[in-house]
Amino acid sequence: MRDRKIKNKEVETGYSKEKSVVEAKRCYLCHYNFQIDISRCIYCLACIDVMPVDCIKMAKNIEVTEDGNLNYIETKNWSEVEAITIDNDKCIRCGNCVRACPVDCISVSKYKIETIEEK
Ligand code: SF4
Ligand code: SF4
Repeated sequence: MRDRKIKNKEVETGYSKEKSVVEAKRCYLCHYNFQIDISRCIYCLACIDVMPVDCIKMAKNIEVTEDGNLNYIETKNWSEVEAITIDNDKCIRCGNCVRACPVDCISVSKYKIETIEEK
């Protein structure tokens, strides 16, 4: 605080190398996308049993939007379930579901957002 009062003294100096490594470990890995291959899922619910947050849903009324996302309604009624699906907005990238799946139908893909400039 005292340094800020000194004119021309730089106070925002960034992280040291050691501190930056510590901070980088807090990354939530949001660029990883977890997806269930519905055609191979056997609906065993092992992934739901091990989820640490409310991230995997039983879904009905599934629609694929133009941008490739899924629209669906969550259901607890087995007779309505069309698929088990992962909510990547809630996923904390723990990997529990991938390790628990007995048929290895959960994949992890890395993606990046690209900005396209208008001409
Ligand atoms: S990786 Fe973890 S948090 Fe993400 S969907 Fe699987 S169990 Fe849920
Ligand atoms: S653990 Fe795998 S097979 Fe079982 S419900 Fe989840 S995604 Fe489907």
